[in-house]
Amino acid sequence: MDQAAIGDLVLHYANGSVRGFSIVLAPSRSAPRPYSSETWNNDGRILDVDYVAFDLPVRLDELPLEVRLLEPKPHAAFTSKGRVNQGYFYPVSMGLARAALDIAGIDLASNLDEEPLRINGLSDREGLARIRVEQPLIRRRLLAGRPEAPCGLCGDMFATDYLVAAHIKRRADCSERERADVNVVMLACKFGCDAAFELGHLRVKDDGTIVVLGPTSSARRLAALEGRVAGAFTTETRKNFRAHRHTHAKTPATSTIDVVPG
Ligand SMILES: [Zn+2]
Repeated sequence: MDQAAIGDLVLHYANGSVRGFSIVLAPSRSAPRPYSSETWNNDGRILDVDYVAFDLPVRLDELPLEVRLLEPKPHAAFTSKGRVNQGYFYPVSMGLARAALDIAGIDLASNLDEEPLRINGLSDREGLARIRVEQPLIRRRLLAGRPEAPCGLCGDMFATDYLVAAHIKRRADCSERERADVNVVMLACKFGCDAAFELGHLRVKDDGTIVVLGPTSSARRLAALEGRVAGAFTTETRKNFRAHRHTHAKTPATSTIDVVPG
C-alpha cells in the first residue's frame, strides 16, 4: 500500500467482479481499522481514494483470460490458471486496467493526458497504472455539488455543463504534491476563457487582473475581460497564475505586449 502514489488508479474487486475504480488522493498512512473486527488486528495502514462505482460490475470471466495471464509476476493478482489470488492489494498492468475500464464503459481516451501513459515510477517493475482521471474528479471537487458556479477567469456564473477544470499552472510542470493541490486548478468556462487561457491569450497579473493578448480577432472578442479581477485569483493561486504567465512568456502575441509584467 505504501507504493501507491497520488493519482494512481486502483481497481476494486469483490465477490467475483471488479466493482469500480478509485484514484489515490494521498500517500498511505497509519490508522486504526475503520470497521470493527474480531479476527484482525486494529492497527494498519489507510489509503485515501476517490471511489467511482461501475454502473455494472465487471465479472472476472469478462476479463479476457489472456489479459489475466499476462499480469506481471510475482505478486500477480491472478494464478497461473487465471483465478484470483487471495490477497489485499496487487499491482496491475495498464492492459488489465484498460480492459476492465473498457468493459465498464469508462472512456479512458478522454481522460488521457497529452503525456504518454506512465507506469508507477516507484520501481522498475510494472506497477499501478497511472492515468489521468484527475480531470473529472478535480472538476467534481471544485463544483462541490453546485448546479452552477462562477468561471475562474471572467467570473460569470455558468451551469456546470459549461465549466471545465482547467490547470492554472500547466499540469506537466506540476509536482506530484501540486497535482493534488486544489490551487493549481480552477473552473473555466467553455465560452472562451478555457481556450484563451490555455493558449496564453488571457493571463492574470499579480494583482489578479486579466490581460488580453493574442490575435486581434480573438482579442476583440475577449476585450471586455481586460482589467477584470479573475474569479479564481487568491493569494494561494497567485503563484500558479505567475507560472502560467511564465509558461507563455514566449508565446507569440500579436498584440502590443509580449510579456506581461507582474
Ligand atoms: Zn469565463
